[in-house]
Amino acid sequence: MSDPESPVGISAKSRATFDDLPLNPRLRAGIREMGYSEPTAIQRGTIPDAVHGRDLIGTAQTGTGKTAAFLLPILERLMNRPRGRIYALVLTPTRELAIQAEGFLQQLGRHTGLRGGAVYGGVGMRPQEEALRGGAEIIIATPGRLLDHMSRGYVDFRSLEILVLDEADRMLDMGFLPDVRRIHDRLPRNRQTMLFSATMPPEVVRLSRDFLRDPRMVHVAEKTVAAVGVTHLAVAAPSSQKTGILVRLLQDETMSSVLVFVRTKRRADQLVRNLQHSNVSAGVIHGNRSQSQRVHALESFRSGNHRVLVATDIAARGVDVEGVSHVVNFDVPHEAETYVHRVGRTARAQRRGVAITLIAPEDGADFSRIERLLGETIPRATLPGWDYSAAPPPMAPMSQGRGRGQDRGDRYQGRRNSGSSTGRRDRRSEGRSGDSGGHSGHSRPRSNRW
Ligand code: AMP
Repeated sequence: MSDPESPVGISAKSRATFDDLPLNPRLRAGIREMGYSEPTAIQRGTIPDAVHGRDLIGTAQTGTGKTAAFLLPILERLMNRPRGRIYALVLTPTRELAIQAEGFLQQLGRHTGLRGGAVYGGVGMRPQEEALRGGAEIIIATPGRLLDHMSRGYVDFRSLEILVLDEADRMLDMGFLPDVRRIHDRLPRNRQTMLFSATMPPEVVRLSRDFLRDPRMVHVAEKTVAAVGVTHLAVAAPSSQKTGILVRLLQDETMSSVLVFVRTKRRADQLVRNLQHSNVSAGVIHGNRSQSQRVHALESFRSGNHRVLVATDIAARGVDVEGVSHVVNFDVPHEAETYVHRVGRTARAQRRGVAITLIAPEDGADFSRIERLLGETIPRATLPGWDYSAAPPPMAPMSQGRGRGQDRGDRYQGRRNSGSSTGRRDRRSEGRSGDSGGHSGHSRPRSNRW
């Protein structure tokens, strides 16, 4: 079988272990405690050169282990530096990515004594000021807020040895490149620079020419993102019945940590209210929530207080929560790439996870595009025991993304084949809830277990 993670241009195809990488035992301990058993492709590709101070460009997406690919070399290189000065700066496009990277840093570096500080907008300046005044050796920052601090004059980058630009293409999309250049102008020239980007648009190429010296290129095939380790399923769900079907799916306890994607903020708010109404503990993140509400929702989800997090695509960008068991596409995304980004939130590098898409009759064309992009047919099923012909449950109807609220189960045209009988069927739905895709063991749930 081909290895979808094989980095192009890296000869080591065999699976290295962390012991093969030049990392201090104190770092290996942190890695072990994180539960990482072997390095990912991007880590195998970058760490050996990065620990020796070489500049590099890594083209890899979120989900490939790229954060540890730059954090581990940083920690390794700084292990024996005197504390109290800033030696490394990671610039990242979003608060969520900054918070997340700082979390990884704390865990991976816990036996090193090195300290990290996250600097991002939307919260008070004071604690961040303390980190920047010598309370951290490694700063992870969004560009705008960092510039605010720099303009106040107390940030001293004279000891800086390493600069990382994380998700450079997203920094471009978000209009941060001028800020990044402004920051760069005030950094020591003699340093190591690592740039990570999923894609390399011309502006990012220009930036890399201006910032990096003789970089090593490490490329990880894009397919890694969603394809590895995710089981994809589609469940017939007429628009007016989606909430009820989701609540029913959630009766399965293996759905322990569920990220639910919807298309609009309004639908997100409405869904979370309906879930709470059905006694499902759920939080929500979307663009209209304040920074502290978003941080709070993420924390509640991370800590397991909330089993479900409802999110819009933009708000969920960069969200990385360990152990998301399921991603549910409450709404099928119009763009196939969005599907890939969404399901990239589950499985991650641990290679296990389930993506369930609720598909209404009108979603057929969008869903086929997704299948074409993935290069596979996703098994479609009806929910055993679910009465598709019944009236919608007594909940506030969801607002319709595309103005069609009248769908009934009997209009559902999902692909079905003549696979074996489901065994346990609700009599009312007899003859409707045939399973699909006898070609996949996952296509038919046993007693609602997905
Ligand atoms: P990233 O691409 O940096 O967002 O990382 C994606 C996920 O992979 C995170 O949940 C990391 O904790 C996890 N991860 C990173 N490296 C490894 C590894 N070597 N083995 C297993 N999981 C990893």
